[in-house]
Formats: sequence, structure tokens, C-alpha cells
Amino acid sequence: MNARSEVQAFDAADYAGVAVPSGAAAPSGAAASTRPAQLRAVQVTKNFGGLNALDNVSLDLRPGEVHGLIGPNGSGKTTLLNLLSGYYQPTSGAIRLGEDDLSAAPVQRRARAGIARTFQKPRLLPMLSVLENAVLGAWPHARSGFLATTFALPWVRREDHALLAQATELLYGVGLGHVLNRRANLLDHAEQRFLEIARGLAMRPRFILLDEPAGGLTPQEIEHLANVVRTLRDSGIGVLLVEHHTDFVFRVCDRVTTLNVGRMIRHGLPDEVRLDPEVIRVYLGA
Ligand code: ADP
Ligand code: MG
Repeated sequence: MNARSEVQAFDAADYAGVAVPSGAAAPSGAAASTRPAQLRAVQVTKNFGGLNALDNVSLDLRPGEVHGLIGPNGSGKTTLLNLLSGYYQPTSGAIRLGEDDLSAAPVQRRARAGIARTFQKPRLLPMLSVLENAVLGAWPHARSGFLATTFALPWVRREDHALLAQATELLYGVGLGHVLNRRANLLDHAEQRFLEIARGLAMRPRFILLDEPAGGLTPQEIEHLANVVRTLRDSGIGVLLVEHHTDFVFRVCDRVTTLNVGRMIRHGLPDEVRLDPEVIRVYLGA
């Protein structure tokens, strides 16, 4: 199989046909222990036609922390995010949520287990409104099936007021309260990025994986993003932050992992990573 064909776009086809019982998003991994479950990549390798995009990499994401993932272009950051969120399956190694092995679980099951994500290049439904795009993220909680949610929004308006109210609140939270009814294709770049975050949050996730959320943002917008990320952490969500704006990373992250050509070269506290000679040599520069 051509590895490229594993890549899935965010569109209705991702979720079409998924039966969505109400309350299905109740955490499935927390039952066995009282410690909140961590989302972990355990010694994962991902091979694409002979190239190891990731080679024996481990990472654990804790609830209520911001974990930075940095490294040069092509070092495997998005691949790791795709493995954690179910867009790829590891060639070897495992993805675990608490005691559960999710390595082979598809995107939908991971979403129901509380793993949300955004994309390096925003993927929105352009002809739907901001509010409609955000409420689609709530599909694990919808009483109706996903197709009904997508194609019968007036019906959803009657049935799922709570989801719309929640999505509205989240949109105000990320600063999009003034454009609820604007079509997504009329948003500027920063607005699209914040809408993706709101859509992820509508899932009421335990973990959210953000792929270069500061890409293309102005310094003021990055400041706003930093506040949003801190708010998520304080609410107990584990945030994985894949990012090139390293001053932003070192400011908001509790821990940082560095990749280089598919290998983990350093992980630790922001200051430990920032001052690490190898990290400086391969990525940060002198
Ligand atoms: P990063 O996000 O750090 O820039 P990626 O994870 O996107 O890096 O890519 C890591 C390596 O894996 C790159 O060499 C890239 O070309 C390769 N790669 C990523 N996805 C695929 C794919 N679907 N098919 C083939 N190669 C891929
Ligand atoms: Mg990437």
C-alpha cells in the first residue's frame, strides 16, 4: 500500500457511518487506576517505504500539562502526532492511553477516548459557518448520528441545544464569538487556526494535539494562543504542542521533547532542553 494513502483529510467521510451513542465519550482508560491516564507513545517506529520517519521514540503526555514537541522540518513531529491520534499505525511499538493499547484503534475510537487534534494546515468545512464547524467536533456526544449532525443542522438545533451552547461558549473562549455565523471560507488564517482548536475542544477531550498552531500568526495572535493553551492546561487537558516558534514553546511548555531525523535527542524541562548543546547544534542554532 502506498503510505500516502494512509493520510486522511478532515471531512465528513472521516466520521460517516459512525454510530454515536449518547455519552459514548466517557473515558475508557481511567477505570483501572486512580491516577489520571497518560497518553503514551512507547518505543514507536514508523517506516515509510524504507525510511524511518520515527525510530524508537517514546513520549508521555500527562493530563494538565503542555508538552512541547520541537525539531527541524522532517524530523517526525507530525508523524508522531498522527500516530497518537490514529491517522497512522506504528510499524513497531505501541500507543497507550492508560492501560489501553490503542495502537490499532482508528481515529474515531481515539476521539471517543478523548484524543482531539488540529492540523498543520487547517481543515475546515468551508461552506459551513463557524458555529457549525465547531459543533461538528462534538460528534461523540451527539444523540443523532454524524450524518444527521452534518446534513440536518436545523434538526440538531432542536435536539442538541446543549451542544450548540457548548460550542458557542468555546468559540467565545478562543475569541471567535463575534463571527459565529460567518462562513469558514471567509475567515482569516488566524481565525481558522482558533476555530480548529474550538472544534477539537467541542469533543471535550482529555488530550489535544496541536500541529504548529502558531504558524502564520502575528506576535499578538501568538500571545492570545498562549493564553488559550494555558487555560486548557489549567482545566486539566493534556496539550501536545508541535511548534517552531521556540520562544513560545519554552514559555508555555512544562516539558519539551526534541526530535531530529526521527530520533529523540532530548526531553526534559524547557531550560534543560533550551540549553542542551545537541539541541542547539541541530535545531536552535548558536
Ligand atoms: P515534521 O512534522 O517534523 O516536519 P513529518 O513527520 O511530517 O516531519 O515527516 C517526517 C518524515 O517522514 C519526512 O521525511 C517525511 O517526508 C516523511 N513522511 C511523513 N509522512 C509520510 C507519508 N505519508 N509517506 C511517506 N513519507 C512520509
Ligand atoms: Mg509537521
